[in-house]
Amino acid sequence: MANVTQLNPGTWQISLPFQGQYDIIGSYLIAGNNELALIDPGPGSTIEALLPSIRDAGFDPKEVTHLLATHIHLDHAGSVGSLLRYMPKAKVYAHSKGVPHLVDTTKVVASATRIYGERMQELWGEIEPTPSERIQALEGGTVLSVAGRRLEVHYTPGHAVHHVIFFDVHSGELFAGDVAGVRLQKIDYVRPPTPPPDIDLEAWNESLDTLKKLRPDVLYIAHFGPTRNAAYHIEQLRKRLTKWGEIVLDAMRRGYDEQDLIPLFINNTQYELERATTEPDAVQRYEIAANYAMSVQGYMRYWRKKHPERL
Ligand SMILES: [Zn+2]
Repeated sequence: MANVTQLNPGTWQISLPFQGQYDIIGSYLIAGNNELALIDPGPGSTIEALLPSIRDAGFDPKEVTHLLATHIHLDHAGSVGSLLRYMPKAKVYAHSKGVPHLVDTTKVVASATRIYGERMQELWGEIEPTPSERIQALEGGTVLSVAGRRLEVHYTPGHAVHHVIFFDVHSGELFAGDVAGVRLQKIDYVRPPTPPPDIDLEAWNESLDTLKKLRPDVLYIAHFGPTRNAAYHIEQLRKRLTKWGEIVLDAMRRGYDEQDLIPLFINNTQYELERATTEPDAVQRYEIAANYAMSVQGYMRYWRKKHPERL
């Protein structure tokens, strides 16, 4: 049962083992009214851990009715196409901008292969297409009736153009995906996950305003777990997101290329994480959740694409 934590009578958290480590990638399971929904079912490489975890929570994976993706990054939704074989009743829900990449995974596979090369299979497992008739496209403003709950869908770009959050107004639970950042358990440090190609600081700030206005009782973040002090958490992320962007912009203006910028960036940022915890493997675990190289690449692309006048 260790990989499954019951958070309240209708909500479970599942920890998926990624690169040999637990409590870095998580899914949430909600149940009610004879429906069973998984939020961010994870990458294809963790299906073998996901299925028994659903059973440990007391359910049959065959009974899953909804696969809800906060966004279609591989660590959140890479498994959905494959999972449908195990979940004959399930439908996939994702933002309309992500849907084409679930139906045709060619581009996603090609760009991930450019980044991960030989490690593709080990990291992500199978990335199978999802038949369009089994997908429902979401937009901000959609209200879903799922597992006895009313889940509001809010469009929250910034980390990804196809990112949404799911908010249960009655319980105050907010399923936040990556827009609320990365914060591993028991460490008071929120890291902005800023991989290419979609990073947009203005959009992300607006999305953080959206989250704040909802006044959630708890943020369920994907990497990893519940966070109760939402306002504090959001402001910590907002500050760091801006500060990191300025570090990258400043270095770009001084002529740094990517290769030199990455170590400079680590020098200027990592000490804050080291200060926030005494856990010896914290740096490595945060790096698995959202690595520095991709953070730098994401910011560099943002500045070049959105603000060439500042370079
Ligand atoms: Zn993501």
